[in-house]
Amino acid sequence: APAPPVALEARGLVKDFRGFRATNDVNLQIHDGEIHAIIGPNGAGKTTLFNLLSGFLKPTAGEVRLFGERVDTLRPYEIVRRGLSRSFQISSVFPTLSVRENVLVALQSPTPLPHRFWVPLSRLESLGARADAILADVGLGGMPERLAADLSHGEKRQLEIGISMTQDPRVLLLDEPTSGMGSEGIARVIALVRQVARGRTVVLVEHNMSVVAELADRITVLQYGSVLASGRYEDVRRDPRVIEAYLGD
Ligand code: ADP
Repeated sequence: APAPPVALEARGLVKDFRGFRATNDVNLQIHDGEIHAIIGPNGAGKTTLFNLLSGFLKPTAGEVRLFGERVDTLRPYEIVRRGLSRSFQISSVFPTLSVRENVLVALQSPTPLPHRFWVPLSRLESLGARADAILADVGLGGMPERLAADLSHGEKRQLEIGISMTQDPRVLLLDEPTSGMGSEGIARVIALVRQVARGRTVVLVEHNMSVVAELADRITVLQYGSVLASGRYEDVRRDPRVIEAYLGD
């Protein structure tokens, strides 16, 4: 079979923190259009890998490529402009703004308009229409005027995903989108990730294995900073080394 097109790739990626190797020679290919889950026990290096892929950390060695172009030398906002955006575990939501205002603010950054002090009315209206479309996509279309501070935990995560959608990313990185949620919230996030994955590539860090089973086309298992296994979910979950790593946890 022909090799599938690669959206995001790590080549020989290494990250050392004062002598401690948090990322150890990671080679990873995220295929264009797939939902790819990165799993592994606490301390395995999932967050560090996410930070390397999105440019928030510079690798000690190795490369990150986005649609073939080397991006590990770029700043995070330059990587966003090339089509990769991420959500954070730590909230990027402004609590004193409404749901819709949060999306509008994000729509105007980090790629500012040429003349921010004089935004043509037509431009604002088209931003408004885009904000409404994004809110509908993430399931918040019914509460545009609600203060972000008044949202439930799950609704805040939906808004965060909406904020990362404002850059219309080709590749979306989601950091533990179901963390701290009950079963109802988890079901909503699963539906939401499926929705936003249409026509784009999604990479997520996820602890909940039933979420991984439902969503992921392929997964990568990290252990002690290294890739233990990577491939189709159905194959990786049967890999004896993966079973051993999880039973031995
Ligand atoms: P995970 O997200 O899988 O729980 P992390 O990427 O957060 O793992 O951490 C991997 C390892 O790297 C851990 O042992 C952690 O203590 C270490 N680490 C992460 N960030 C730093 C840092 N800024 N300085 C030193 N050590 C770090």
